[in-house]
Amino acid sequence: MEVLLPIVILLVGPVAASYMAAYVMRDNKLTQAREARSQCDGCGRTLKWYELVPLFSYPLLRGKCATCGHKIDPRIWLAELWGLVIFLVLAIGVNKMLATVSGQEAIIYTAVGTFFCLVLLYLSVYDLFTFSIPTEMTRWAVGAAILANVLFAGLRAFNAAPLAAVHIGYPDNLLMALIAGGFFWAIIRLTRQKGMGIGDVILAVIIASLLGWPATVSAFYTMLISAAVAGLLWAIFKGKLRGTIIPLVPFMTLGFVVAYVWGIEIFNLLFQWPGTNLF
Ligand SMILES: [Zn+2]
Repeated sequence: MEVLLPIVILLVGPVAASYMAAYVMRDNKLTQAREARSQCDGCGRTLKWYELVPLFSYPLLRGKCATCGHKIDPRIWLAELWGLVIFLVLAIGVNKMLATVSGQEAIIYTAVGTFFCLVLLYLSVYDLFTFSIPTEMTRWAVGAAILANVLFAGLRAFNAAPLAAVHIGYPDNLLMALIAGGFFWAIIRLTRQKGMGIGDVILAVIIASLLGWPATVSAFYTMLISAAVAGLLWAIFKGKLRGTIIPLVPFMTLGFVVAYVWGIEIFNLLFQWPGTNLF
């Protein structure tokens, strides 16, 4: 069980991302496929199982349909890779928790992490394909984040469950949610940043409410640095720096999961003065 759980978590990412990409493409009419089974957009052939293996099929097929040579959307592979990255980080966190806290606490940590990583991964895949996030799903995510905070605060008040591994339901969760929301809103207002919208503000509120202090700060820096590096690499690849836009939600998701696992460690790394440790 303790060896298996991180491996299962690791596999969930690319498999879920693969399904999410297929769903988002159909939902936004980015593919002609209408059958339950996936089809090639070039020749309409129903794809075989080995053409649908997350992570592996795209490079093995060299990004083309084996029959007609139709180009497969590389964003599908990007989504699967991102699913792997997000859930690799979560799997490391689960592995760490299994070794350091009680079994019950590790299970709660795993369940909460998996649930919100799946929600955020879906929004990441959506953002990757459309540069927007669906309002409906965002609303559900806000509801889930509020529910988690109320539930955890209640359980803590009555000492009803071992919740030490998850930092949800504390007053600082609410405070950080307000600060993160206000901060993102101010950035949008001040910079009139294209491609950033109210969806990103809401997502920042959700993530901060699940991390509290100080992990929200770590999530923000992780997002900022990873998005900047990815944007720069993408600009070099494209050969132009101006007008390059990248979807932000995948990097907010990375920030969330990295801070969920190493929130305090990263904060200490960022703000450590010689000989001091804030946490
Ligand atoms: Zn084809």
